Amino acid sequence: MTQDDHKGTALVTGASSGIGAVYAHRLAKQGYNLILVARNGERLKTLASRLTDETGRMVETVVADLGNRADLARIEGVLKDDRSITLLVNNAGVGGTAPLLSADVEKMQEMIELNVTALTRLTYAAVPGFATRGGGTIINIASIVAIAPELLNGVYGGTKAFVLAFSHSLKHELAEKNIRVQAVLPGATATEFWDIAGTPVEHLPNEIVMSAENMVDASLAGLEQGEFATIPSLEDAGLLAAYEQARQALMPNLSRTTPAKRYKVA
Ligand code: NAP
Repeated sequence: MTQDDHKGTALVTGASSGIGAVYAHRLAKQGYNLILVARNGERLKTLASRLTDETGRMVETVVADLGNRADLARIEGVLKDDRSITLLVNNAGVGGTAPLLSADVEKMQEMIELNVTALTRLTYAAVPGFATRGGGTIINIASIVAIAPELLNGVYGGTKAFVLAFSHSLKHELAEKNIRVQAVLPGATATEFWDIAGTPVEHLPNEIVMSAENMVDASLAGLEQGEFATIPSLEDAGLLAAYEQARQALMPNLSRTTPAKRYKVA
């Protein structure tokens, strides 16, 4: 036991590589015990023993394919039953770069299952316990394509727009329950994501690619600063604030008895 034990346990999905592995490292250093989830058990074990050696935290690994309903249900069970969990990092995800005419719809469905269905079910599993225990934190890894879906595969953008919209709603619904919600919108980040998505990261202009370490450190700083949406690359935070103000200004005007005059409906 150390003075950090009050932080509790963070469950990180997609912790076997890239962004998730860096979250695992940083959170262990902050004093969280960890439950690391992914399909590649060997990688998880290697990371777990390195983190335990380096930080002295307790690190458990759970092998699960979150695109498989039985495996997903097991992780939902962990989130429901383990009262030590105080932080959920919904990070596991896959992307795509192909446009509709050359993309395989079965792959699109698998992407939706992981990026949307698994993230949703894990959040539903975690939130009631957080509410009962008086608080918790949910970090949802979206992407800049949530607001710029034209950049990559459209279904990928759609899944990340879901993550952002769902996070907005969670923040709104859970504000009174002491549950922090953060949506992280990384730009291009140097991970295996790009090989799996179909465009090696080396094919991207160097100046738009961030290291996973810098991405996660900026996001955790954003969380600490109380940000809801964190875009690590965005220098001018005023641009995001203006985008949000425009959204808020639209909100009271979106539902009316009559169509707008420009449609000339009698
Ligand atoms: P990555 O290195 O490919 O990591 C993806 C992680 O998800 C791996 O740990 C992988 O582990 C896990 N995963 C994949 N399919 C899974 C499944 N069916 N069940 C359980 N775990 C699964 O890529 P990354 O860049 O770190 O991606 C992490 C998140 O960041 C994703 O949500 C991605 O959309 C988002 N993101 C990435 C970028 C970028 O440029 N890299 C930009 C914006 C957002 P296993 O293979 O061991 O299962």
